[in-house]
Amino acid sequence: MSNLFIFIIVLIFIIIIQLIISSWFVEIATLKGYNAKEHFIFQKCFWLGLPGWLYTLGLPDIRENPEYDNKDTIKKSKIKLQPWTCSQCGQSNPGDSAVCSKCSTVNYDMWHKLHE
Ligand SMILES: [Zn+2]
Repeated sequence: MSNLFIFIIVLIFIIIIQLIISSWFVEIATLKGYNAKEHFIFQKCFWLGLPGWLYTLGLPDIRENPEYDNKDTIKKSKIKLQPWTCSQCGQSNPGDSAVCSKCSTVNYDMWHKLHE
């Protein structure tokens, strides 16, 4: 066997071990109440190794309060789902802006939602 062959075998072995360990940590993060995909747990554990593992282990348990993790996402998507019609000119405006794109009237309800 050449050294190159041994090197490739060892490399494949390390990659497989890393895949297994990373999926364990994805499970740990999920058990703690995190959306592992959103927090790139797999990527962090796979590419960073030890720092990624320590990061995942150090995450506080948020199962008691699952909104905590997804608060920003939920807030943003809620607002995005609410396009509004201007009371002054009838223009439909997207939910990510509080100012009418046609007449510049400010929708105060939307403004509060975006800035609360
Ligand atoms: Zn308008």
